[in-house]
Order: sequence, then C-alpha cells, then structure tokens
Amino acid sequence: MQVRVWNKDHRDHVEMFKGDQVTVPGRGFILLDLSEANQFLGQFTPIKKDGHGNHLKPKMLVIEKPVDGVLRALESVESICMLCGKDFGTKEALDVHSNKEHPAAKTTQAFRQKAN
Ligand SMILES: [Zn+2]
Repeated sequence: MQVRVWNKDHRDHVEMFKGDQVTVPGRGFILLDLSEANQFLGQFTPIKKDGHGNHLKPKMLVIEKPVDGVLRALESVESICMLCGKDFGTKEALDVHSNKEHPAAKTTQAFRQKAN
C-alpha cells in the first residue's frame, strides 16, 4: 500500500534514507510504501539546535494512510498525532492528547505553533 508522507513544516525536509537523499518538500508530500514510510519516519535524525536550544530542523513528517481508498487533504492531517499516528479529529483534541501523552514533546509543539 502506498501512503503519502507529508512534511508539516514549511521548509523542505532532506534526509538520507537507504543510501538515497530523500527530499520531502515543505508543506508537500512524497509517496512511499507503508513499510518504507514507517522506516523513514522511525530512523534517527540528528537534532540541530540554535544557541537557545530551539530545534532548527524538527522532523515534522506524518504518514497519511488512505481512508476508504481516498487520501485526505493536508488540512485534516493537522489533527493527527505525529508521535503515535492517531487521528483525533480536531487540532484541539490533538493538543489535549499531546499534553497528556507526550509532555516531553512540548518543545516541538511550541515550535510548531510558533512556526504557524
Ligand atoms: Zn500521540
């Protein structure tokens, strides 16, 4: 099954994957097989930080699986948890989930809100 790997950041995401340089365009997507997409999102990405400890290049990728054979638009991806891949329907519900389940990920989330 092919899935879309979306980049929620506005900057291109460039990363080596299985010996190839893969570029996911900012606010865009690439198509991968589901198993490859899982490996790509799961592989270690060196974190670059600035002098204030802010992430310069957070890995803001999400996998979009087809629902009833249809891939949804990026807008609806805003409600999907980047860490566990569950869809919470709304961004507000996702924020509640993130604060409860992934308090350590708050830095990333704060960055995301700032970026938006
Ligand atoms: Zn989660």
